Amino acid sequence: MAHYDALIVGAGQAGAQAAVSLRQHGFEGTIGMIGAEPELPYERPPLSKEYLSGEKPFERLLIRPAAFWDERRVEMMPGRRIVKVDPDTKTVVDDGGEAIGYGSLIWATGGAPRTLSCQGHALAGVHTMRDRSDADRMRRELADVRTVVVIGGGYIGLEAAAVLTKQGKAVVLLEALDRVLARVAGEPLSRFFEAEHRAHGVEIRLGAQVDCILGDDRVTGVRMADGEVIPCEMVVVGIGIVPAVEPLLAAGAAGGNGVDVDAQCRTSLNDVYVVGDCARHANRYAQGAHIRVESVQNANDQAVVAAKTIAGVEASYDALPWFWSNQYDLRLQTVGLSLDHDEVVVRGDPASRSFTTIYLRDGAVIAMDCVNMTRDYAHGRKAVTDGLVAPRERLADVTVAIKDMF
Ligand code: FAD
Repeated sequence: MAHYDALIVGAGQAGAQAAVSLRQHGFEGTIGMIGAEPELPYERPPLSKEYLSGEKPFERLLIRPAAFWDERRVEMMPGRRIVKVDPDTKTVVDDGGEAIGYGSLIWATGGAPRTLSCQGHALAGVHTMRDRSDADRMRRELADVRTVVVIGGGYIGLEAAAVLTKQGKAVVLLEALDRVLARVAGEPLSRFFEAEHRAHGVEIRLGAQVDCILGDDRVTGVRMADGEVIPCEMVVVGIGIVPAVEPLLAAGAAGGNGVDVDAQCRTSLNDVYVVGDCARHANRYAQGAHIRVESVQNANDQAVVAAKTIAGVEASYDALPWFWSNQYDLRLQTVGLSLDHDEVVVRGDPASRSFTTIYLRDGAVIAMDCVNMTRDYAHGRKAVTDGLVAPRERLADVTVAIKDMF
């Protein structure tokens, strides 16, 4: 039976960073990385942006070139999915029935895209967006597509809508709630993005209830709860992910929506760490609430903490959250977590397409969404870590730099 001193399950953003960091911090043992996809680790953000549009080839998405992993003595095992973990014998089993032993296990499997459950959800032409193969399938079909229905007004749905509109497709975006980005942003930002998409020709429908997907072999339309049919040749579903942690939960790891980890990314199972999208952790920037954060920042920073801990270097996860999204010529940069804000200040005029939404709790800055406002974003990092308190008129005044408010 093969055995690795550090075995990484999931060859994505966090898995790759964990391997890089293990070597960086002097870990000399054997490292193995098992991933369900056939690819070497790559960045997912471009899948709904420059890769979908064809502007960036896949090679530029790779987190490191193949030679890097050989040089660092990281054994890559693509195309294998781990289905069982036995924490007593410290082994995992893959979908081919092969067992592999570990000294430390780093679980970095992200999540599977949530799918619709209604009739027609599995028809050809209905896509989710998580892996390269999803984006490739969409790209292959696009030539024959005139109208796309995007289900879900989160970042991935909005980014896909922007790319598809720019490619000349008619796009209808359906959001069940009363505004896009409702779970992650305040109303001013939601309304701004709705207006932008509409100005680019996207038809946005809020409070939209889907009844089913129509078609025989391929999708031909979406039927709404009120009976209306929206004809289309493609559906893109962007309604979140389900953390891929069943084998760990079955092995007894504490968790539910993800696996619970401490500040070193350790789980309740001995020598088992969880990092990235599927790790539920107490986040200082969410008032210590136990949450999962789905971002490159979180994946990388948690991976560093787990790797350092395994390498015997003291580390604790306490990183400032940040995120970005590109839609049309808009660059949104977010810092902090706005989850439980009690006040929003809009800094600058959204009509100028360059403004910042500042989130406050008890009068202190907890997060900022900066649209084409890189300078605010740069200063915003300190504003959030320090919990900046400043008069609302000053916060709203773009002629006063954030850095001059400390
Ligand atoms: P992943 O990168 O998803 O890697 C997990 C890997 O584990 C996958 O390859 C999966 O196949 C594999 N796996 C799953 N189960 C098993 C198993 N049982 N055995 C073996 N392998 C397994 N974040 C941002 O910060 N900014 C953005 O603009 C942004 N845009 C995004 C756009 C898209 C389309 C998507 C999908 C994500 C985007 N994200 C963005 C989120 C970001 O990509 C994720 O937060 C990040 O990839 C999480 O890293 P991870 O390692 O936890 O999971």
